[in-house]
Formats: sequence, C-alpha cells, structure tokens
Amino acid sequence: MARYTDPVCRLCRREGMKLFLKGTRCFSDKCAIEKRNFAPGQHGKDRKAKIVGYGLQLREKQKTKRMYFTQEGQFRNYFEKAAASQGVTGEILLQQLERRLDNVVFRMGFGISRRQARQLVRHGHIHVNGRKVNIPSFPVNAGDEIAVREASRKLAILESAKEVASHGHAPNWLQIDRDNYSGRIVSLPKREEIQMPVNEQLIVELYSK
Ligand code: SF4
Repeated sequence: MARYTDPVCRLCRREGMKLFLKGTRCFSDKCAIEKRNFAPGQHGKDRKAKIVGYGLQLREKQKTKRMYFTQEGQFRNYFEKAAASQGVTGEILLQQLERRLDNVVFRMGFGISRRQARQLVRHGHIHVNGRKVNIPSFPVNAGDEIAVREASRKLAILESAKEVASHGHAPNWLQIDRDNYSGRIVSLPKREEIQMPVNEQLIVELYSK
C-alpha cells in the first residue's frame, strides 16, 4: 500500500481526536482539531451517527496504525506475530509498536513527533549500541543503548524537541539522558506503561473475524 501523502491533520479529523502527528503545531491553537473538529470532506459536518461494531473496530485499528506511522501490511504483520506469541495478543501488539526505533527516539524526546523521529532514523542520525541504524521499524531490546550521532547533535530540531520533552513525563521503561542525547531501554514496556488512547481489544476482534 502506498504511503499516505495528504495533509496529516485530516487523519486526526477523521478520528475526531488529536493524534499528535505534527509536532509543535499540535500543541497550538493552529491545530485542526481545535479549529475544525469534524470529519474532513464535504459532508463531514453532517456525519454524527454513532459508530458501533465493525466500524468501531476499524476506526481503532486505523487510529493506532496512524499514530505509529505504520502501513497496513506492516501493522497486520505485527498483529500476526502477536497472535502467534504466548501472552495477551493486544498487549504484545502494542509492545511491538512501542519497540520500534522511531517510537523510542520520539519517547526519548529527540523528535517532536513520531514523524520527525522517523526522519532522524532514516537520515542516519541515530545509533543503537554504537552502530548506525536507519530502519524506523527496527525493534529495540532491553539493555540497548540509543544515541543521537555525535555529529548530528547540533541539529536545530533536537533543541526544540528537547524543550518540548522537558515538560513531559518520560516512560519508566526508558532511562534518558537528554543533555547527552542518549538513553537506554531498561525493560520492554508493560501495558500499563504504554500511555496510548487505544483499546487494543477492538483491534484483536477486528483481525480475528
Ligand atoms: Fe493532529 Fe497535530 Fe494536526 Fe492537530 S496539528 S490535527 S494534533 S496532526
């Protein structure tokens, strides 16, 4: 499936909530959800019907997929891997999404959004255990050391991300040294440590049909 290239704020408007896809704009009054919180398109304002059943499951999957910037095939692979693992499928699915390197870079506060974190990874600015890794979906493991490459630490986007991140709460499963643009995976995240507005059970139900 092709990567989504239309304005990302439309995705938030479709889900009726902030998905935080654009960085600082998401925290300002320029955010499209602040200004036009109704579905995009000509009839967006008129569609007020309550979504139930399949529609609800589908929206939950779409929302989660978009928040983590994954494509359909990749998202489904995460689900299939989770379903084949021992444990609670929905929780393992979310854990796999959280373990993506682009998400970890975002959680560590080196990118202002997952999209920006993804660019940092793709452009070779991120090291894992001292080696460059430019694959956004790379799954981190407990004990891994993540760092912004030394030559990249003067990037202006890192400064603004650091400023925003300093106001937020860092997850317990990460140890972060923002001054040195580095961090460590203390342990893989448990469900209660993943602060995402997601009902993963709905996604499991959708894919289990
Ligand atoms: Fe979503 Fe951010 Fe756009 Fe607001 S500014 S609609 S939160 S992407």
